[in-house]
Amino acid sequence: MEPQPALQFNDTFIAFASKSNLQLRKAYWLFKAMHSPTSVKFLTTAAQLSLKLHLPVDWAIKATVFEHFCGGESITGCEPTIEQLAKYQIGTILDYSVEGKENEAEFDSCKFEIIHTIQKAKGDKRIPFSVFKVTGVIRFGLLEKVNSKAKLNPTELAEWGRAKERVHAICKAAHDASQMLFIDAEESWIQDAIDELATEMMVEFNKNKPIVFNTLQMYRHDRLAYLKRSYEAARTGKYWYAVKLVRGAYMEKERARAAEKGYASPIQPDKASSDRDYDEAVSFCLEHIEHLAFCSGSHNEQSNLELAKKMGELGLEVNHPRIWFAQLLGMSDHISYNLSHAGYNVAKYVPYGPVKSVMPYLIRRAEENTSIAGQMGRELGLLTKEIARRKL
Ligand SMILES: Cc1cc2nc3c(=O)[nH]c(=O)nc-3n(C[C@H](O)[C@H](O)[C@H](O)COP(=O)(O)OP(=O)(O)OC[C@H]3O[C@@H](n4cnc5c(N)ncnc54)[C@H](O)[C@@H]3O)c2cc1C
Repeated sequence: MEPQPALQFNDTFIAFASKSNLQLRKAYWLFKAMHSPTSVKFLTTAAQLSLKLHLPVDWAIKATVFEHFCGGESITGCEPTIEQLAKYQIGTILDYSVEGKENEAEFDSCKFEIIHTIQKAKGDKRIPFSVFKVTGVIRFGLLEKVNSKAKLNPTELAEWGRAKERVHAICKAAHDASQMLFIDAEESWIQDAIDELATEMMVEFNKNKPIVFNTLQMYRHDRLAYLKRSYEAARTGKYWYAVKLVRGAYMEKERARAAEKGYASPIQPDKASSDRDYDEAVSFCLEHIEHLAFCSGSHNEQSNLELAKKMGELGLEVNHPRIWFAQLLGMSDHISYNLSHAGYNVAKYVPYGPVKSVMPYLIRRAEENTSIAGQMGRELGLLTKEIARRKL
């Protein structure tokens, strides 16, 4: 195999090749505004309130955070983003980001929308994965009850049957379209129920190739062991194990709940432990790549570099069909674009939905970019570097 040039992420020419000067400046000001926790708090509260009062603020949100972090308000609206990413060999993962729904009509409509994303992706190389959150199609309280192993009453049992049917319909649609599908990971107190559903779906739909991917959050101290168990179960059950590895998005919430309810926190004692398990999980997947498929969902430069380096050490081709890298739209373009430039398989979540409905997602992005000093500083630093480079 040809030796690969060393991968690096600080080439801002490649990282921002898709951005016009105006887009670059807008991104710079956006990240600058998100730098201050006070301004993020003020702006997110003002935006939520204005939307609640039906004040015409949609345009302002659309022209700023929405445009940066979302693909559009509908699948069709995402087409320019899909095309733009594809121009740089980056795949799109259409992520219908409507959250907080509570009734079955809304769950059904969410199910249909997710199936539409799968149909849109069918046979379209620009959209390698589809994705959904189980809480988008099943009531949180019901998942919590199932997770606790408490006995369901007859009404709940019937509701659970319908809920499972929605998950099944989505996974079947993915299978029929031969489309890879992520099931996102969520809070630990509903995650056992999600894991069981995901496993059932893998047993049924991953017989011939990896279709359904469960997600493992390596900030949980029990996930490395679970990864190994799940892999063994798949080997025994003769289906493909497929997994998306992430560090995990609900750390504060997890710790707060554990402290409040007085149980041992499922979260690792420190960041180094999450990093260690993440690296070990990646190594495990690479060493068993003959029988599994995986995606590393991370904005951590070191994790991405390590994965690329280990692939080289194991003599795996850069575009191995069962190894993927993924980031979120509007974040860590320097990683995504440099990876794809070097030939690796990369895709980005492209969240979409009506402005009002994606607000919780946008607020999380704004807060995340405020709290992660390293990430934030990096994005701003790279944008500044590219603006200066273009002036020269
Ligand atoms: C494509 C993609 C898909 C994703 N899907 C999911 C999903 O399905 N479910 C989900 O929960 N999240 C998901 N995420 C979010 C992800 O879990 C992380 O929150 C986010 O990516 C930040 O982690 P990192 O590896 O990018 O970067 P880093 O900056 O290296 O890591 C930050 C993360 O490290 C962990 N951490 C930080 N401090 C500590 C500490 N003191 N102790 C222990 N751990 C600590 C936390 O998980 C924190 O989010 C996804 C992210 C991407 C890019």
